[in-house]
Amino acid sequence: MPADEATTRTNQLQFQNPVTRYPSIEPPPQHQDEPGLASEMAPQADIGEFSYTGTGRLTGRKALVTGGDSGIGAAVAIAFAREGADVAITYLSEEEQDAREVVRILVETGRNAVALPGDLTDVAFCREVVDHAAEQLGGLDILVNNAGKQVAVDSLENLTDSQIEQTYQTNILAMFRTSRAALTHLPPGSTIINTTSVEAYQPSPLLVDYASTKAAINNFTKGLSHQLADKGIRVNAVAPGPIWTPLQPSSGQPPEALPEFGHSTPIGRAGQPTELAPAYVFLASPESSYVIGATIHVNGGMPTP
Ligand code: NAD
Ligand code: MG
Repeated sequence: MPADEATTRTNQLQFQNPVTRYPSIEPPPQHQDEPGLASEMAPQADIGEFSYTGTGRLTGRKALVTGGDSGIGAAVAIAFAREGADVAITYLSEEEQDAREVVRILVETGRNAVALPGDLTDVAFCREVVDHAAEQLGGLDILVNNAGKQVAVDSLENLTDSQIEQTYQTNILAMFRTSRAALTHLPPGSTIINTTSVEAYQPSPLLVDYASTKAAINNFTKGLSHQLADKGIRVNAVAPGPIWTPLQPSSGQPPEALPEFGHSTPIGRAGQPTELAPAYVFLASPESSYVIGATIHVNGGMPTP
């Protein structure tokens, strides 16, 4: 992946001004068919290839990251591998090109990297992909439920049953299924991390289906965390704000809204995917042993309850 204006070679541990760590990008109006490819975005997003520096915090761990081919999932997969974990990623078959690029970066760390294409709206795939990840990694102790679908629609009258069902299947129903399948593999000390959104608290009028799945994810995270706490399995969530990923130019936002994407946050710019990675690393690592049922907000300062 080429470095360009939105990538950095300054690692995440260097003292720096968060306002200027990345430029305030103004992506030109653009459109891709879902699910979108990172390689087709203008500008490119920063998944940490040239910057994320590991410190051994996940040495020997075994992680499955859904939607790990691009955006936040790719940044998390790269960070996990650089922290010493073996990593499996899931993605849709249309995203093979992005997945190969992420696997190339994972393999450079010397850790085991496993690519598992498939559709999480398929009930059987949700179970099989977890079993395959555990087989190919030789176990599983981190599950990151991160895959998501976001398609902006201007009114409830124009929101189709098909879209409502696919958004719910992808964002929340799959999360029940992959988490259930993972329970046969996860030993005490394991963690499940779910990607929710600031949309759970501040639903956009264009995203009523998507935003309501994100509220459900928050509730699921808290309920499941209570259910699994005494088994030594911790469940937490990360709630990103506006992050520049393929989700946004592939119908996640109206194309004309893209130049302003993220500008209304207190920090004044969109986030880059690699800025999410440390939150997932913290929740995956044993250092967060007393953090259960929590949501970490990584949103440039947008107020949350
Ligand atoms: P992304 O497009 O890079 O990642 C989403 C991934 O979901 C895709 O790469 C794809 O592999 C996967 N996916 C979608 N539908 C699928 C299906 N039916 N089966 C299997 N996989 C499927 O975008 P992203 O922004 O990095 O999204 C990751 C997560 O972050 C999502 O849950 C999204 O809702 C959440 N999020 C994103 C933002 C943002 O501003 N980008 C903000 C809040 C939350
Ligand atoms: Mg993708």
